Amino acid sequence: MSASYVLVLNASYEFLNVATLERAVKLIYKGKAEVVETVDREIGSARFRMRMPSIVRMLYYIVRPHKEVPMTKKNILLRDDHTCQYCGRSGDTIDHVYPRSRGGRSTWENCVCACSVCNTRKNSRTPDEANMALLRKPKKPAFIPWILVKRDASRVGWAKYLFWNMSIDEVLQQDG
Ligand SMILES: [Zn+2]
Repeated sequence: MSASYVLVLNASYEFLNVATLERAVKLIYKGKAEVVETVDREIGSARFRMRMPSIVRMLYYIVRPHKEVPMTKKNILLRDDHTCQYCGRSGDTIDHVYPRSRGGRSTWENCVCACSVCNTRKNSRTPDEANMALLRKPKKPAFIPWILVKRDASRVGWAKYLFWNMSIDEVLQQDG
């Protein structure tokens, strides 16, 4: 299991953020957060040892800032499950639905994962012109943790603090 991320809860036990392990340990060390759940592993140095946190809780309330998911190639591929949005096979390239060569922008709504075959075939055409229908309408994810949660699936104990029974599709749809 990957150990890179820790779920951070607000003082109210509501979901706040996802932090790196290093950042979470600093919060605990400085007395800003407490450990809620750990995984069965020790971390630290000779002077300072602790069980690796999986969930921490802030000891004071944080007013939650509005978060946006960074629009990156990696995140588009994660959103689309590395699945070509035209043929459903595995894909690792980005297609601009409305072609970039014709002014199509690099936005969540205009970029999809595509396999290289479909990407080449579609070329500088719209899906209509190329007669290539999208499997689903591309949307902007609601907030960043869903990308992180996807990347770091099944962390210990996270489920009860997240809407874990929802698929990423449902979360994406909420945004639209
Ligand atoms: Zn394809």
